[in-house]
Amino acid sequence: MINIDVNTQLCAVIGHPVRHSLSPVIHNAGFQSLGLNYVYLAFDITDVDSCLRGMRSMDGFRGMSITIPHKEAVITFLDEIEPIAKQIGSVNTILHEGNKLLGTNTDGKGTLNAFRRANVELSKKKILFLGAGGAVRAVAFAFAEIVQPEQITILGRTPSRLEKLISDLKYVFPHIYFQQGYLNQSLEEYVPSHEIIIQGTPIGMEGHSNDRLVFPFVLLGPEHTVLDMVYRPLYTELLYEAKKRGCKIITGLEMLLEQAALQFELWTGHSAPLNIMRNAVEKALK
Ligand code: NAP
Repeated sequence: MINIDVNTQLCAVIGHPVRHSLSPVIHNAGFQSLGLNYVYLAFDITDVDSCLRGMRSMDGFRGMSITIPHKEAVITFLDEIEPIAKQIGSVNTILHEGNKLLGTNTDGKGTLNAFRRANVELSKKKILFLGAGGAVRAVAFAFAEIVQPEQITILGRTPSRLEKLISDLKYVFPHIYFQQGYLNQSLEEYVPSHEIIIQGTPIGMEGHSNDRLVFPFVLLGPEHTVLDMVYRPLYTELLYEAKKRGCKIITGLEMLLEQAALQFELWTGHSAPLNIMRNAVEKALK
């Protein structure tokens, strides 16, 4: 444990609920291993305005992770927002610098780093997303902005949400080819033609509904890389089946760790000790 004193910097996650959050385990393991005088806590918050006023007025409150349902609501209370977070329309990270609150979103870039660490090239590839929610939105914008894929296809459940996401992407990235389809109806059509598959619904998550993904596993092969954003359990049915068929797989935990590493670097100015953070979170998940 670090010795908490008058110089200790505070970082925290806010959300509602936050009881499930692994962020305190990840960040505190990182702070302790580098001997940084930082501590990371979790706060269950409903009043975002008061919370951010409090942060702004507290000199030693260095950074925040924002989780569901506050990623959009915090935007109004920030002084500056990184362009990518503005395009996505959600902020998952706040840096308190001087008397300013600066917002960004590390979900997309973190996911990109998870692919890079797994040595998977994304440029000129066809990328298939399952789900059209906040996390897919963040990752799709970052991929379109940074890696220039040949095509992005998004399969959703609710037409209005899917169409809004596709039209926002087309507006910002007119040079990229976007397609849309409905989950559980379009998988057989799209799986063979896409090299990268990113599962971004809560299906398969512990404690979620009993809904199952009607996924044509037989169409998977070594030409595919599959990332499942769900990390409880660490190896979902999709990842298990994908591995069995020779696909490269990336767990949701790698995505979680990489987005946390970017936050850690922003708040501390130090490279995140990823292996130490991974060990700590794997232990917590057992
Ligand atoms: P979200 O904004 O609520 O979006 C969820 C998406 O999944 C929506 O498109 C939703 O469809 C769809 N969906 C939900 N239940 C479904 C079902 N039974 N059948 C078909 N589609 C369904 O959530 P999110 O923030 O994007 O998060 C999505 C998942 O990613 C969650 O499991 C979350 O824990 C995980 N996640 C992981 C990380 C990580 O670091 N590994 C980071 C962020 C999120 P509708 O549009 O019809 O509601």
